[in-house]
Amino acid sequence: MGKANEEWKEKGNRVFVGNYARYPVAMVKGEGCKLIDADGREYLDFLAGIAVAGLGHCHPAVTEAICRQAGELVHVSNLYYTRPQTELAELLVANTFADKVFMANSGAEANEAAIKLARIASGEGKYRVISLEGSFHGRTLATVAATGQPKFHKGFEPLPDGFDHAPFGDLAEVEKRISPSTCAILCEPVQGESGVRPLEKEYLQGLRALCDKHGLLLIFDEVQTGIGRTGTLFAYQQLGVVPDIMTSAKGLGNGLPIGAMLTTEKLAAFLVPGTHASTFGGNPVASAAAVATLKVMLADGFFTDLQAKGQYFIEKLKVLADRFPMLAAQTRGLGMMLGLVLTERGVELGTEIVNRMLAKGCIINFAGNAALRFVPPLVVSREEIDQLMQALEETFGELA
Ligand SMILES: *Cc1c(COP(=O)(O)O)cnc(C)c1O
Repeated sequence: MGKANEEWKEKGNRVFVGNYARYPVAMVKGEGCKLIDADGREYLDFLAGIAVAGLGHCHPAVTEAICRQAGELVHVSNLYYTRPQTELAELLVANTFADKVFMANSGAEANEAAIKLARIASGEGKYRVISLEGSFHGRTLATVAATGQPKFHKGFEPLPDGFDHAPFGDLAEVEKRISPSTCAILCEPVQGESGVRPLEKEYLQGLRALCDKHGLLLIFDEVQTGIGRTGTLFAYQQLGVVPDIMTSAKGLGNGLPIGAMLTTEKLAAFLVPGTHASTFGGNPVASAAAVATLKVMLADGFFTDLQAKGQYFIEKLKVLADRFPMLAAQTRGLGMMLGLVLTERGVELGTEIVNRMLAKGCIINFAGNAALRFVPPLVVSREEIDQLMQALEETFGELA
């Protein structure tokens, strides 16, 4: 850590609420998979702002769209129509199961909208939502209550009522929790924050069947898995399951804050004027960034290439896991959302591994106290993957 980084850290610590455990680095510039800090050090970024910058930092098409829109119109609220928000909704509708879109600013807000829709559409007395242990749905009071990790609840009780949690990957346990007051099942196709834990295709299809059998709504939280992250625009598109409601955020604006709740025409009809709103949701600049992002991804060959690179990457990770069985137990994930599950010894060293990688100029993350998480820009090259693997090998070699 150099002098400028140190200075920003000290300044920040004087004025910020201390809710983030930040690395002692101030980032000043980004390009593709590279970040540059205040002291001019370069990093290979395999976190992409937590699965956000799918096209990499400052992708020219996105930057151009942001600048153009910022010079035309920045904000008018949702009392009016705007071109970027309309175009974004058209793209989302054309490329998913959804007929209708509600725009929010973040993942938590998209999930709030999904929960509110599930409740209002299900009628009085049907309000409970079943989600999974290990899930992550956001930090607002309702979405943190939906989040199946007690560590995020501590100190904030009483949480809003109406959330039940079922053990990971067990359909019978979900069915046991269904009551006459249940309205929906909420699930991430791949749990991100708890360490890249994919749910089986059959399990997700089983959730769909449970919803159909009991008259419940299936909500997919694709805030992390969506926008190409898993190798298709949304993960559900490769899983043979269609949800009733789906949420998106993280990658949607390639870094600008924007979220969306997508649903069918029939369900959307319940959110009549006055039921739900957001001042900034689908803001023209954020929407313009999202339109530019989606257009790049929807061009020919983007997902085919991405899937091939994801395969290349996971195979390299497997080789590493085989070489260091004392540290790494297995690989898991979908597309460019990959995890290297650590052994008990590896977990003890998880933070140390991330810190050593940072010192070598590589940004990765340790998720859920279980796995190293790799969510690089989707445009990452094989050479960059090789570079990361080299640093990982060195780091594992030092610690093994
Ligand atoms: C990050 C995340 C959220 C919360 O998104 P915010 O934009 O931080 O509110 C919700 N669900 C999932 C699956 C996430 O990964």
